[in-house]
Amino acid sequence: MNVAARYGFAVGCVAFIFGNFIACGAQMYRVSMSEDHNAAQVSVESTNPNSPAFGLHSPHGWVKLPIEFKVGNKMDAVQKSGLQAAMKTWEIATGKTLFKFVGVQDGVDGDSFPDLYSSLKDAVNGQYLDSNWKKTGKPDVVLATTIWNNSSQDTAAISTADIRFNVQDYVLGDALTIKGTYVEASGQFKDPVDMQTLALHELGHLLGLSHISSDADAVSIMNPYIYIGEGLTNRHVSIGDIERIQKIYGCEGAVCDADKALEAVLEFSKIDATQTAAH
Ligand SMILES: [Zn+2]
Repeated sequence: MNVAARYGFAVGCVAFIFGNFIACGAQMYRVSMSEDHNAAQVSVESTNPNSPAFGLHSPHGWVKLPIEFKVGNKMDAVQKSGLQAAMKTWEIATGKTLFKFVGVQDGVDGDSFPDLYSSLKDAVNGQYLDSNWKKTGKPDVVLATTIWNNSSQDTAAISTADIRFNVQDYVLGDALTIKGTYVEASGQFKDPVDMQTLALHELGHLLGLSHISSDADAVSIMNPYIYIGEGLTNRHVSIGDIERIQKIYGCEGAVCDADKALEAVLEFSKIDATQTAAH
């Protein structure tokens, strides 16, 4: 992302906002990600820079790979493509097959579950949209949240996980083309959020990564905030993210050289997600 150019856009936009907020769409702003996962499941070690488990909430990763996942029945093609591209990015970073799509959850999406944690009770690793976000108990400012179960045999390993995406308060899609939406009934403006960027961060949690402060790694996708708004994307991970994910899953092939992995990740990030094969 060209930060200077984006700021230029945002400033130009602000001047226009007072005249016509809706036509202008969303301006750029930073959204905190601090409530997008369960901090209670994050160990003390993960926040200690001197620990080998720094930045890792589940250092042993998934009990079984690839992670078999389903998507909710309301996810559209562009959202699926963004999600798939984010998964591919983590696979490029490790040189391993981490994910396997096993179907759409017929008739089921985030709204089917009475609260946030009940979707974890089945054996399905689900990627769900919630258009009734309130019942997750998370505030409106939370874009998505990742929940997981650690294995009863190994509490440093993950056995199941779901991601719940907030589509009550945000429009999720390709931020290079989507606009925000004004909901007349509620007078609410739904900001556009790049699905690939958001999924990359949430999948980082799903794979075992915790937040990394910008002091420790300013360009990590696991920084506890992201920029949202029209045209704003961050579709790649940092070299630090690559090193941390390889600590959990190891690596295969040329990407065991983290510089090579970063090159491959950056190359892939230039591809428009909507052009990649959808599931
Ligand atoms: Zn997060």
